[in-house]
Order: sequence, then structure tokens, then C-alpha cells
Amino acid sequence: MAKLYYRYGTMQSNKSNQIITTHYQYTTQGKRCLAYTSPIDSRSGHHKIKSRVGLELDAEYVTDDIFEKVKQEHEKEAVYAVLVDEAQFLSKKDIHNLSDIPDLLDIPVIAFGLKTDFRNELFEGSRTLLELADAIDELKTVCQFCNKKATLNLRMQNGVPTNVGETIQIGDEEYVPVCRKCYKERLDLV
Ligand SMILES: [Zn+2]
Repeated sequence: MAKLYYRYGTMQSNKSNQIITTHYQYTTQGKRCLAYTSPIDSRSGHHKIKSRVGLELDAEYVTDDIFEKVKQEHEKEAVYAVLVDEAQFLSKKDIHNLSDIPDLLDIPVIAFGLKTDFRNELFEGSRTLLELADAIDELKTVCQFCNKKATLNLRMQNGVPTNVGETIQIGDEEYVPVCRKCYKERLDLV
């Protein structure tokens, strides 16, 4: 039985690179793989997943009819996996639709995304994935300011740490991965 996977990490935890590599692994084995991303993420330009090491992958946007789209593609030619980038920005409904793909079509869905926003609160897409996913993995990276594992995203505005502003503000130069202790220290929470 195919599964719904959720692979989460902070900023700079190599998510886009992993999705592109996973796509490459499937396709080099002759296994067709579909890539999707959130329409909210305009950072990469339209329909592109880009990694910091310079790799790119064309991706469709996740839309309300994602299940039907994948079903039609699968009927044309077998699909072996569905990859989803920036899954934190998806709605609860989108994640429910994605969960129908392993359940009804027996195709695995591998979703990548941030777990929490800069206030350390779950995004809607992340919360729903944590509730529904069959398998959950953490992609690890190191705190910007010390050597511990980063678990939070710190928003920097003009070089100054902040925890105010809109929840979704695209542009990763404004976020850095930090450990909980450094997060508190930088925001004067301790
Ligand atoms: Zn730290």
C-alpha cells in the first residue's frame, strides 16, 4: 500500500535539493514521477523548484483538482510517485486531496516543507500533514549561531531578528535556521 510521506525541516535544510534528487532517482530508473509546488511560492518563478546548489525541476502548481489531475496522468502513463514542494503553504483541503492519491490510486506522495513559521507555530499544511502522514522524517541542519541542530526559523528584517509581521512573507534571505536557545536569545525572550 502506498504511503503519504512528510519530510519537514527548517530553512536551508536541503528540501528542494532532496526533492530534485528523488525525482532524478525515479526517472533514471524509467519510473515516471510528477512534481508539484505551492502556488504561493513565487520565489522560484513559475512552476520551478530550485535548490541552492543550482539544480532545478519543472513543477505544476497544486490546485483543487490535484487528485483528478494525477488520476488522468496515471491513466495515460503509469505514475510511480508524486512529489510536493513547499507543502506548508497548502490548505487542509489540499492535503486531504493529496492523501487520496496513495489511498485510491496506490501512488506514494512525498511532501516536503517547513514545519513551523517564524513564530514557531505550525503552518496549516504542516499541521494537516503531521495529522495524516503515514511516515514523517526530519531533514536536519545546523543552527546559524551555534553548533546545535536547528529546529526553528528566525525572521530577520534588515539584519535584525523579529517575530512580528505577516505569517507568509516569501524570500528566504530573511529567515535563518536556529536552535531553540538561540531563537529565544536573539528575540530577547530569555
Ligand atoms: Zn543555536
